Amino acid sequence: MIFLDAAATTPVRREVIEAMFPFLTNQFGNPSSHHELGELAASALANAREQCATALGCHPEELTFTSGGTEADNLALKGIALARRAANPQLNRVLISAVEHPAIVESAEFLRRVHGFVVEVVPVDSSALVDPGVFAALLDSGSAGGVAVASIMYANNEVGTVQDLPALAAVAAAAGVPLHSDAVQAAGWLPLQVGALGVTAMSLSGHKIGAPKGVGLLYIKGGTRYEPLIHGGGQERGGRSGTENVAFAVALATALTLAEQGREAAAIRVTALRAEFIEQVLGELPSGELTGHPTRRLPHVASFCFAGTSGESVLLELERRGIVCSSGSACAAGSDEPSAVLSAMGFERGVAQTALRFSFPADVQSGELATAATELVAAVARVLRLS
Ligand code: PLP
Repeated sequence: MIFLDAAATTPVRREVIEAMFPFLTNQFGNPSSHHELGELAASALANAREQCATALGCHPEELTFTSGGTEADNLALKGIALARRAANPQLNRVLISAVEHPAIVESAEFLRRVHGFVVEVVPVDSSALVDPGVFAALLDSGSAGGVAVASIMYANNEVGTVQDLPALAAVAAAAGVPLHSDAVQAAGWLPLQVGALGVTAMSLSGHKIGAPKGVGLLYIKGGTRYEPLIHGGGQERGGRSGTENVAFAVALATALTLAEQGREAAAIRVTALRAEFIEQVLGELPSGELTGHPTRRLPHVASFCFAGTSGESVLLELERRGIVCSSGSACAAGSDEPSAVLSAMGFERGVAQTALRFSFPADVQSGELATAATELVAAVARVLRLS
C-alpha cells in the first residue's frame, strides 16, 4: 500500500511512543497530586509545554493542551469572541475565511445561532487565497459593530493553499482585532514561530505530525482574554479544566520538536517531489486540473479535479490498485455535498465532485509517487471508460 493521505492522519512515531510510554505506565501520576508521582507528572507536563513553546517561539503559559485541533479551534473562536463581547457589547461580529475547516465553520455558526453574533465570510480567490486588502475592508466595514475575533487558516486541508499569514495578521493588528489561525495542516511543513506570523491565537493537532489522535494545542497570546469552554478543576490556568493528559502532552511535544527539526529539509525535498508528481499526472492527463495555488501551497499536498469522473470512483479504483488518497477532506467525508472549499473557490458542483487529494508523508519516496501517478492515470482512464 502506498499511503498518500497524510493530511488526514499519520502513524504515531516510534520516538513519540517511547517518550509517552512512562506516563502511561510507571509514572502514571495526576499532575495535581501532592506526592512524588504527581510531581513527576507535573514536571513532565511543564517540560512538554516548554518544548512546545520553544517550537512556537512563545511563552509556555500561552499554551493550552486540548483534545485536538477541533477543540483548539472551538476554544479560540468561541472563547475569544465571548470574552471580548462581554467586555465590549459593540464587538458583535465574527469574521472567518470561506475555506475554513468545519471546526471553525461550526463554531462560528454556534456563535451566530446561540449567542447572536453576526458571522461574515472573508472570500477567497480561485486559488483559495484571501486578499489582505479585502480582509482589511471587511474589518473596517463597521456599521454592524466591531469585530470580536477573526479566523483565517494558515494552510488549507483540501487544496493545500498557504495564506500570507503575516500580511493578514498585520491587517488584523492594525484594526485592533485578534486573529486566530488554524495551523493544523501547516505543522511540520511551514514556519510556526508565532512572533513572525503575528497571530493572536493558533491551533495545532498532534495526529498530523506523528502524535496520537486526540491531542492538540492552542496558542493564545498573553493578555488576550478568553472564556473557557470546559469548566471544572481549573487546570490549564483555568482555561481548560480536566485532569491533564500528560502522556499525550509529552507525545505532542516530542512530535512537534521532531517535526520542527526535520521541517526545512522535508519541505525542500517534498516540494521537488510534488512538482514531479504534478508534472507527470497533468502530462498524462491534460484534462486534469490542479486545485489550489500553483506555488503558495503545502509541500506535501497535490489536489486535482478530473473532469467527467467522480472523485469517489477514482478513489476506490486507486485503492484497488494499492494507492490510498482522499476524495475530499476526511472530516467532511460521508457527505455527498461537494466540498465547500472548492465551491468557495468558484468550482461548479459537478467539477467539485471530481476532487482528489494526495498528501504525502514526510518520508515519501520518489518511486512511490511515480507508481501512484501511473496508477492514477490508469484509474482515471478506467473510470472514464465505465461512465
Ligand atoms: N483543522 C484542520 C485544517 C484540519 O485539517 C483538521 C483535521 O483534519 C482539524 C482542524 C481537526 O483536527 P483534529 O482532527 O485534531 O480534531
